[in-house]
Amino acid sequence: MSDCIFCNIIAGKIPSTRVYEDESIYAFRDISPQAPIHILVITKEHVESAAKLNVGNSHLAAKCFEAIAIIAESEGLKDGFRVITNAGKAGGQTVPHLHFHILGGKTLGEGLV
Ligand code: AMP
Ligand code: ZN
Repeated sequence: MSDCIFCNIIAGKIPSTRVYEDESIYAFRDISPQAPIHILVITKEHVESAAKLNVGNSHLAAKCFEAIAIIAESEGLKDGFRVITNAGKAGGQTVPHLHFHILGGKTLGEGLV
């Protein structure tokens, strides 16, 4: 998707601070971190959001979580971390390309919203 920010990050047209990459996943530091460690894990294939996952592409979500475990280890998040995905306008999604936020580096509150 040529007008998608995250597709352009994957293509190297928009700079990012890469944390992890494999054949199907790219991860980079959030430009506006909301915790000491704030990383975005995205699928290289453009999927709009978690609402667009289905039997044909849900393996990409599994790949994201495999990457999340690797990144959590490499970032030293041994005491824990939070994973969030926003879907759609009411879910607070601002970039319509499936991504998982990894938040950590401090003790997060128990509340979700
Ligand atoms: P969401 O609101 O869940 O769609 O999350 C989008 C996230 O993308 C926000 O946390 C933004 O700070 C982050 N973001 C937007 N543009 C960039 C960028 N160019 N590089 C890194 N993070 C970005
Ligand atoms: Zn995209």
